Amino acid sequence: MDAIFSYMEKYDYENLFFCQDKALDFKAIIAIHDTTLGPATGGCRMWEYDSEMEAIEDALRLARGMTYKYAAAGVNLGGGKAVIMGDPKRKDREPVFRALGKFINRLGGKYITGEDVGTTLKDMEYIRMETEHVVTLPTYLGGAGDIAPMTAFGTIRAMQACCNRIYGSDSLEEKRIAIQGLGAVGHNAVEQLHELGAKLVVTDIDSGKVEVMVSRFGAEKVTPDAIYDVDCDIFCPCALGAIINDDTMNRLKCKIICGSANNQLKEERHGEVLEKKGMVYAPDYITNAGGTIYDTDRLGVGGVSHDRGKEKVSRIYDNMNRVFEIADRDKIPTYLAADRMAEERIKQIAEVKKYVNDLRP
Ligand code: NAD
Repeated sequence: MDAIFSYMEKYDYENLFFCQDKALDFKAIIAIHDTTLGPATGGCRMWEYDSEMEAIEDALRLARGMTYKYAAAGVNLGGGKAVIMGDPKRKDREPVFRALGKFINRLGGKYITGEDVGTTLKDMEYIRMETEHVVTLPTYLGGAGDIAPMTAFGTIRAMQACCNRIYGSDSLEEKRIAIQGLGAVGHNAVEQLHELGAKLVVTDIDSGKVEVMVSRFGAEKVTPDAIYDVDCDIFCPCALGAIINDDTMNRLKCKIICGSANNQLKEERHGEVLEKKGMVYAPDYITNAGGTIYDTDRLGVGGVSHDRGKEKVSRIYDNMNRVFEIADRDKIPTYLAADRMAEERIKQIAEVKKYVNDLRP
């Protein structure tokens, strides 16, 4: 990115806010992409960026990603993101996150923040001391608590839709599934898939996590690099981004790629190649929306309801089917169909909102 306004114009951003406090050594950026569907929502990332431009670009890029994620998920929220520039391990968390909370509060609810890379639930508690515009809170503060189980559940719902497309049935029983990464989402996915009767092959760079899955669920283990060569029905990446690349493309022996990891395609062209190879790719921001769907469900409806939240996450199955419909209709790969689904919804709801506003006095 060379020039801020031309970048904002290119992707149709609404606002960019700069926040600083010299005494606290605090610098943050809040980007708001699109509020057609509702308040801009998206987590707060804390990272040591090499330059201000890099931080700005990250905030803008991530905010736009949230617009698509909520739109495609059927959630009435827009896309936003905050980034704090600095060491994510810095110790003075309370003043830093309360300062961010103050700035977020000034936006009057146009931006709602949450947890992201480099920030924790505890940091969100500090933000909550200054503003109510924060999700991802512990249950004792009225939040949904740990959302990873719901991210895993949503990913599995997407998997079931993919299975229906390939095998004509949702069943995951006896399906061989290779899971990369056994962290917050991955270990929950293993547990839930085991209950559904799947045959599991697991890996992680942390061998302790692997051993737990082997002993608890009878999973087969492979080394981190060998996961790409596993002969399986479904490859489920729950660790890193860019794992679909020139190297792994020719090694994968699965029919379906469906996992929670963000930015799985190294480049967009890899999505085209998967399509040509006849593999079903479940776009990551469709599959991994479960946690945020569950987390934000309480907004505007008066508190957390596990059953209502889970029901909404379950609809990722329908979202995935809609992606397939658009892919078939427009003869495009699934990763492009997901974008189209999000764009179509925003366009339609903008139309509806115009009409509703006309009726107001
Ligand atoms: P996590 O940090 O808890 O777990 C990641 C795991 O991957 C760790 O156990 C780590 O040891 C392992 N790992 C790292 N490099 C690896 C490698 N080369 N091979 C195998 N394993 C490796 O993260 P998480 O919260 O479980 O998230 C997993 C992915 O899902 C991330 O891409 C994240 O952005 C995405 N995601 C998570 C959520 C959520 O609710 N936590 C929501 C949306 C998207």
